[in-house]
Amino acid sequence: MRQVAIYGKGGIGKSTTTQNLTAGLAEMGKKIMVVGCDPKADSTRLLLGGLAQKSVLDTLREEGDDIDINAIMKRGYGNINCVESGGPEPGVGCAGRGIITSINMLEQLGAYEDDLDYVFYDVLGDVVCGGFAMPIREGKAQEIYIVASGEMMALYAANNIAKGILKFANSGGVRLGGIICNSRKVGNEYELLDAFAKELGSQLIHFVPRSPMVTKAEINKKTVIDFDPKAEQADEYRTLAQKIDDNKMFVIPKPMTQERLEEILMEFGLIDL
Ligand code: ADP
Ligand code: MG
Repeated sequence: MRQVAIYGKGGIGKSTTTQNLTAGLAEMGKKIMVVGCDPKADSTRLLLGGLAQKSVLDTLREEGDDIDINAIMKRGYGNINCVESGGPEPGVGCAGRGIITSINMLEQLGAYEDDLDYVFYDVLGDVVCGGFAMPIREGKAQEIYIVASGEMMALYAANNIAKGILKFANSGGVRLGGIICNSRKVGNEYELLDAFAKELGSQLIHFVPRSPMVTKAEINKKTVIDFDPKAEQADEYRTLAQKIDDNKMFVIPKPMTQERLEEILMEFGLIDL
């Protein structure tokens, strides 16, 4: 079983990318569980066709500790098992807390079945702190992919996440599998992301183009692969899925200084800053 965490700045496209790429893996016959680790609890909406998935924290709050696995895990597209950790009420407690509670609960309820090929954690977090670091701190996820774009704040966040991975790499064995570019169509984005990934000692695993098809599918509460399997964008996600399935490059990242990050940004002539 490969346990993979997807990190990246808020709004960068983690949930969209995770669901589309796991749909691609499901098409290849893989058995998958997706665990949403964002208090927003919208990590599995496209896989579940918009079906409201009650989060683990809400279920625990309303039903107490004695819950059935079916209350928190629903089957979605391609038989993907979908879970949302949820979060505390806004302003109360650590938002990352839900992740810890959820993973423990999933373990107790036997959700990590032997025949699972992949578990994906879709994790909010510009900075890998507190509860949000849990999947990597506790050695749950061994493989991290960072979603980024050519925008400075996305790369700043990605570099911080690399720092977080480095911190736990020796004790927990977590590795960076690559950078996924979710294009915002800025500057020489491909070259920039490629250089950024190499500077970290990693790779740009795939460049996902920006496409109106993503929005169209999203309005229909579906992944692109589900909504329009013949669309070019569906093939992009299939390619990403295949590259992740074939990936052998797992590194301890070498985060860069702010100066070096700015140098790389300058070199690729960002026009949208
Ligand atoms: P995150 O999970 O990182 O907060 P989301 O996956 O929710 O971000 O994406 C934020 C918004 O960006 C969504 O409305 C989504 O439809 C849009 N989006 C993501 N990726 C693409 C893409 N490749 N092309 C067009 N729109 C995209
Ligand atoms: Mg999200």
